[in-house]
This record gives sequence, C-alpha cells and structure tokens, in this order.
Amino acid sequence: MRKVDIRKALEETGALRRGHFRLSSGFHSDTYIQCALLLKDSKMAYELGSALKEEFLKKHPLAVDTVLCPALGAIVIGYTVALALGCDMIFAERREGKLSLRRGFKIKSGERILIVEDVITTAGSVNELLGICRDAEATVSGIACIVDRSSEQKEYEIISLLKMNVDLWLPDDCPLCARGLEIDSPGSRYAH
Ligand SMILES: [Zn+2]
Repeated sequence: MRKVDIRKALEETGALRRGHFRLSSGFHSDTYIQCALLLKDSKMAYELGSALKEEFLKKHPLAVDTVLCPALGAIVIGYTVALALGCDMIFAERREGKLSLRRGFKIKSGERILIVEDVITTAGSVNELLGICRDAEATVSGIACIVDRSSEQKEYEIISLLKMNVDLWLPDDCPLCARGLEIDSPGSRYAH
C-alpha cells in the first residue's frame, strides 16, 4: 500500500481551507479541514482507514469489537477503519445538541470500543462518546483520528495520521472578526 502524504492530499483535494471559520466547538479559526473532500475518493478512504488501523495496533495491540464514531463527518473514516480491523462500526447522532446512539445501536458492558473521528480540535465530541462508553460500561481501546489539531494536553492519548497546530480564538478575541471578515460555519452542528 502506498504511504499517503496526508498534508499534501488535504491540500490537493481542497479539504484544507483557509479563511474565517466558526468551528462546531464555537471557536473561530483561520483554517478548516473538510475531510469529506479527502474521503470522497473511496480508495483514499480505505488507505487512510488501513493506516489508522496500523497506527492503532502499533500502540494498542488489543482487540476491538466495535468502532464508534460521531455522525456525520466521521462515518466514512470510521467505516474504513472498522473494515480494515474486521470489526463492527456504529455511530452516534446529534439530536438537540447531544450525541446519542439511535437506530437500535447498543453497546454492551465490557465491549471493546475504538473511537474514531475525522478531525479532533477541542475533543468535544470525543468527550461525549467517552461518556456514552462509560454509561454502557464499555472498555475504550483507543481514540483515533485523521487529523489531530488539538493543542491542550488531554487525559487520553490520541492516535492520528497528522498532527497540526492551529490557532483557535474565542469569538471575542478573534482577530479576523476584529477585521470584519465574513465568517463561514461549515461544521455539521450548524448545518441547515
Ligand atoms: Zn472570528
């Protein structure tokens, strides 16, 4: 399998955008990563899923029963990671601001879960998924994503294919707002 140059692939597919964005966390940023544009190439999606599986197994040679990801953006990468691991894949959906399992998806006590995201910025969704696992008394085997753009230290390790430090601003401190630049809200939480 060819080794994917993620940064190059993000740029070539237009997935890495520059501008003024309101992220789903509420923070403002000058970069936005739209992984859907990277993952629309099914071969690429499978290669990234396989690469993430390899990264995960390097550090955690544990079996995984189920990949859990947040809808909608992480479903494709969650699916290809699960396909590479040969395990199940389920997703949580946001209703009234809260992620929950729907469609009859259930997690059993002791089930070994790998949480998969496309991009982790503030880990808000990951924390919600950890809560779902905790409530179900499941075992979290790991947390993996394509791009880790989180800066603060987390209490858990994030496995990623690309680490990227980007500036995040609270709306009141955003220099792009101060310059009066129009803002784009591309995250699914603001989708209409
Ligand atoms: Zn702003």
